[in-house]
Amino acid sequence: MTFENHLSFAQQLDAQDPLRTFRDEFLFPEHGAGPVIYFTGNSLGLQPKGAHAALKQELDDWATFGVEGHFAAKHPWYSYHEELTASTARLVGALEEEVVVMNQLTSNLHFLLVSFYRPKGKRVKILTEQRPFPSDTYAFASQIRFHGLDPDICLVEMRPRAGEHTIRHEDIIARIEELGEELALVCFGGVNFLTGQAFDIAGITAAAHGVGAYAGFDLAHAAGNLHLKLHDSSADFACWCSYKYLNSGPGAVAGAFVHQRHLGQDLPRFAGWWGHDKKERFKMERTFKPMPTAEAWQVSNAPVFTMAIHRVALEQFDRAGMERLRAKSIRLSGYLRWIIEEVSTDHGGLFTIITPKDPAQCGAQLSILVSGDGRSIFKRLTDQGVFCDWREPDVLRMAPVPMYNSFEDVWRFGQALRKAVSGQG
Ligand SMILES: *Cc1c(COP(=O)(O)O)cnc(C)c1O
Repeated sequence: MTFENHLSFAQQLDAQDPLRTFRDEFLFPEHGAGPVIYFTGNSLGLQPKGAHAALKQELDDWATFGVEGHFAAKHPWYSYHEELTASTARLVGALEEEVVVMNQLTSNLHFLLVSFYRPKGKRVKILTEQRPFPSDTYAFASQIRFHGLDPDICLVEMRPRAGEHTIRHEDIIARIEELGEELALVCFGGVNFLTGQAFDIAGITAAAHGVGAYAGFDLAHAAGNLHLKLHDSSADFACWCSYKYLNSGPGAVAGAFVHQRHLGQDLPRFAGWWGHDKKERFKMERTFKPMPTAEAWQVSNAPVFTMAIHRVALEQFDRAGMERLRAKSIRLSGYLRWIIEEVSTDHGGLFTIITPKDPAQCGAQLSILVSGDGRSIFKRLTDQGVFCDWREPDVLRMAPVPMYNSFEDVWRFGQALRKAVSGQG
């Protein structure tokens, strides 16, 4: 579509937006007389207004019932996580038996690596993308050491070609084929946190399987952002957090996916009582009998307080629908891209947008490389009540989130950016 740089144009797009009322369901920090322009939903999503009552319900039920709340609470704590399963499956395009809400992201990555990184003979390597979030690198390296191997040899990171900012899909496939029988696991992000590049989950999985390796994905920046189809992608496993695009609050409970073909199998895992067959869980027998679903990977009982908020957030995703959210996101980020390019052209090509333009290769986030004093531009944006994010030495990241950001936010951001590059703020 063709965009225009006018407030009335942005407001017209908002008026046509079928998701526009969701904005009213969120609490925005204030700056001066109005809400901030919140483009950091890729880092910590905003609070749904319903979170407060949901949390209070659990506190009240605890006060009323004490230990009996496990079964007597409005949402019984014993099976609390089960209330999140259907929404989670819809969110990531999985079968219900393939998903479970548990723990936190890096913990889930570790638990899944225990099952799916099984180095043997020549097959010892993990292939990942360069500069994945450092937590993932620590997890991979420590798992490799846990098997008595050397991360310098076993952890292979892919880089973009010289002079390029993102990784070409054909290069990923070629690298997988080249590593061949040495490859135990390919583990990429769904969306790279720095560049905003989205990877082809099905394509990478097919190539990994082609050489006999497993394929797993860290969907921290993809869950609630992309329209995922995990089951159909055939990926072996995936995990994600819920405080970024999923608006479930700091340190919120995370999610995990294990493909159907691995369920009910005798895979190595670190087990705990919540992964034991629930029909016999309270018999407290010594021999572990895994649940026939992804719940087999649970170790501990459900963290009800963070799940209460997550339930509210997932319910919003159910009402909005990933398909509609993604359709809005493509337009919203498309408008932001157009506005940034206009400001950049007017200032001698100050910005380079490194996030790929192809909607198959990006989500909501745009990452821009700033030539010159980017840090000051970032500071002047912050002073005007714009929330975005600066990564040294030269990357400005921002994510207009389709759940609660508006086209007017994008237009206002453009005005603020124009001021910031002109030295005002
Ligand atoms: C946000 C993020 C994390 C954070 O890990 P936690 O275990 O939730 O603290 C890890 N990996 C990636 C790729 C992320 O984007």
